[in-house]
Amino acid sequence: MSSPLTILNGVGPALARKLERLGLFRVEDLLFLLPHRYEDRTQLVRIGALQPGLKCLITGEVLLAETVYRGRRNLLVRIGDGSGQITLRFFYFSRQQQAQFQPGVKLTCFGEARKGSTGLEMIHPEYRVLRENQDAAINESLTPIYPATEGVQQGRLRNLTDQALRMMRDSPPEELLPQEVRDALDLPALSEAIIYLHRPPADAEIGLMLEGRHPCQQRLAFEELLAHYMSLRNLRALARTEKARALTGGEGRVNRFIDKLPFELTQAQKRVVAEILADLAEPHPMMRLIQGDVGSGKTVVAAIACLKAIACGVQAAIMAPTELLAEQHWRSFSAWFGPLGIEPAWLSGSQRTAARRLALESIADGSATLIVGTHALFQEGVDFHNLALVIIDEQHRFGVHQRVALREKGVSELGYPHQLVMTATPIPRTLAMAAYADLDTSVIDELPPGRTPVTTIAVPETRRDEVIARVRTACRSGQQAYWVCPLIEESDVLDFEAAEASYDMLTAALPELRVGLVHGRMRPAEKERGMQAFKDGLIQLLVATTVVEVGVDVPNASLMIVENAERMGLSQLHQLRGRVGRGATPSHCVLLYKPPLGQLARNRLAVLRNTNDGFVVAQRDLELRGPGELLGTRQTGLPEYRIANLVRDAELIPKVQLAAESISRSASGKATAIVRRWLGDAGHYGKV
Ligand code: ADP
Ligand code: MG
Repeated sequence: MSSPLTILNGVGPALARKLERLGLFRVEDLLFLLPHRYEDRTQLVRIGALQPGLKCLITGEVLLAETVYRGRRNLLVRIGDGSGQITLRFFYFSRQQQAQFQPGVKLTCFGEARKGSTGLEMIHPEYRVLRENQDAAINESLTPIYPATEGVQQGRLRNLTDQALRMMRDSPPEELLPQEVRDALDLPALSEAIIYLHRPPADAEIGLMLEGRHPCQQRLAFEELLAHYMSLRNLRALARTEKARALTGGEGRVNRFIDKLPFELTQAQKRVVAEILADLAEPHPMMRLIQGDVGSGKTVVAAIACLKAIACGVQAAIMAPTELLAEQHWRSFSAWFGPLGIEPAWLSGSQRTAARRLALESIADGSATLIVGTHALFQEGVDFHNLALVIIDEQHRFGVHQRVALREKGVSELGYPHQLVMTATPIPRTLAMAAYADLDTSVIDELPPGRTPVTTIAVPETRRDEVIARVRTACRSGQQAYWVCPLIEESDVLDFEAAEASYDMLTAALPELRVGLVHGRMRPAEKERGMQAFKDGLIQLLVATTVVEVGVDVPNASLMIVENAERMGLSQLHQLRGRVGRGATPSHCVLLYKPPLGQLARNRLAVLRNTNDGFVVAQRDLELRGPGELLGTRQTGLPEYRIANLVRDAELIPKVQLAAESISRSASGKATAIVRRWLGDAGHYGKV
């Protein structure tokens, strides 16, 4: 089974190379390449019983063959079996093919019946001419269709898997799930599952299989989830064996800082601070994720962690995904730490060379103890003096690979830096278990007091005038408002044009108001100026693209309008509306949509109207849109699952966690083998 594919009949070096590109190296790999659907050639369907849309096997006698012109030449072959007739239509055909279809010739065809201009038709069916007295070949099992396999024909794949399945009878792949785990979950044995999925019997429950919920599929999905989970846990365990500077001093300074804050920390913030300080006191690197709904006050928690590090005589760095957000942190930290004589250093991609050189010097000689910036923080040429704490804000935009890379970047004779990642996108529990198993998790599950929940309503854009009137009233009474034009296309230009158009419309409709505009195409400094003017109250209505999504804090803003809300993700909308409801005035969020709304869109907007709880929103978003949206697909570095699906198989995840614990305890050899089977030698998360 671990032999190279070239031992199979028909696999030469050229085909082997093609298969390699599909990730297939050994015979065993073929067994784990599962069909993504099946065709039923296990029974002949009478032509009279054919339904449009059904793919099936038929047989019949040629009644008539003719070519017609429909823009180009079409070959039409009419066949019948006594119960009915159907037309086969070919757009591409050779002279020999045409000659085959003599009246009276018997054919067997496989294809999808559709309604066409001649009645029921099959377009380019697979077909074979039957000899006198020959019957159509009926399969005993369903025909597997393998996933797209550039340049390798389905027939070839079937042949290769046939060979692999035959070899498997003598040397089946090792059963790696302990019997008690399989019993507890009622999962079939590995070999049984593999054979079933490659060659399902004629009476297989095809519906269940297409949904990926057949026990045989769940058996494999379970093992795959287990492999990923254990791999992340290994990373976690590895961190516990690594060294880090234990940060134990400086209590007095930290406590004085907390006492002097203009507010009291919430119970949730206190709990999370305690968890972080306990981690930092350990001689091993902290790897902790803080989840907290938008507005829950993560920044001050990060500041306390930084101060702890600085008070212990080491450097702390905080990284944000955008310049805007990083600059805002820089400003918060400057305000908090200025009185303590701590001036944060600034590092970003768009910085002038001279400023950058100065920053780099102070970072290298240790005179900068706190460094704020974008991912420029971890580029070539940045030398830290004694970095011991790394904080990453809005973690959902970074993936496990970046996490690991950052750790490596901070490594020194002091050991690894402590790592804290923060996200405002609450990840449903099961998904977090799977995606962040290498991290310990803290949740800030309480908002600071005095916030009034945001009231959310959905309004069709035909009632835009009423909404504009509402903006006027709010701003006249001294409040401020956001008008958000979300990214509609994946295009900066359109994004910016949409915002410009809204800006023009609103300045014309509300001449008495001071209206500002901020969009993604502005230079960071310009954006910053706009945001600052809004913060200072110089601008009453801010028209913005989704750049305001993360982190902007203007307590006097109590009204938000979001255009094209029906096209946006729920979690993103939730993030957006978190920009209001930060002061004492009751706040409102108006979701403008283009009618008519479909049922799904209606349900989605209803979720936001009905709850202000980010976790509930995230759970619904996950169900409606899948994990990619939540975790930020492309950037996450989350691996592709071959068989498992984090949403469909969510209920397996807690069981995966339990099984991982028991297997690691009692069968650690198997644990290693499971990770290797699914992630390969190089596929470990730890290796980037
Ligand atoms: P987020 O978790 O979304 O990053 P921030 O850290 O930006 O939230 O905090 C939002 C606002 O709440 C800030 O103005 C912050 O100063 C304020 N804040 C944080 N903690 C408290 C608290 N315990 N009491 C009152 N206000 C707080
Ligand atoms: Mg924040």
